[in-house]
Amino acid sequence: MIKRMLILSTGNKNKVREIKEILKELPIEVVSKDDINLGHIDVVEDGTTLSENSIKKARTLSEYTEYMVMADDSGLFVDALNGDPGVYSNRYAGFEGDDNANNIKLLAALKDIEIEERTAQFITVIALVLEDKEIITMTGEIKGSIAVENMGSNGFGYDPLFIPEGYDRSFAQLGHEIKNKISHRARALEELKSIITKLLEDDSNENNSSK
Ligand code: IMP
Repeated sequence: MIKRMLILSTGNKNKVREIKEILKELPIEVVSKDDINLGHIDVVEDGTTLSENSIKKARTLSEYTEYMVMADDSGLFVDALNGDPGVYSNRYAGFEGDDNANNIKLLAALKDIEIEERTAQFITVIALVLEDKEIITMTGEIKGSIAVENMGSNGFGYDPLFIPEGYDRSFAQLGHEIKNKISHRARALEELKSIITKLLEDDSNENNSSK
């Protein structure tokens, strides 16, 4: 019988909040690695792709638990910068996780680029490790463009600069409700929801037929 718990291999409170919100209809408990007592598990994100990093984060945590584990690795790929900051989005300005410095550097890198040339994609790769340690990856992507200045104060990371295609406001202006319906992360998590729903259905059918 599948244990109804999914552990998130991330310490990023903003990501945890979004993932919990998007998965709230799944009939399983979603907890972050900080919600449970697994001790400090360090993972160096030294992969050259989002997929490598997300698999590494999920697999490492799964060695410490028998529950399902998922990790999310995301990146902003800006066309005029040949895909930068991409896999290195988290430490674009040199320091890990300095959102403000990253946004300042991105605006400076694009200062001479016209509005129509400021196209970009936000991509999330999620790695899901099942209880039997099988690994499944899924990708979510959203196209958009980079604003000429910070817009809005909701969200995190590059949210004040990312304007999703079809909108004239940034993720930070659109707010959680809209972002969590259309974002790169929401799209990858839709696939995760279907996979887990199917697993739970198969599991309960198996248990019923063996009674
Ligand atoms: P990582 O997936 O935690 O490595 O994140 C890569 C970088 O992208 C970090 O600088 C995050 O702050 C940023 N980031 C990740 N997801 C989002 C998002 O949904 N909106 C804005 N920035 C994000």
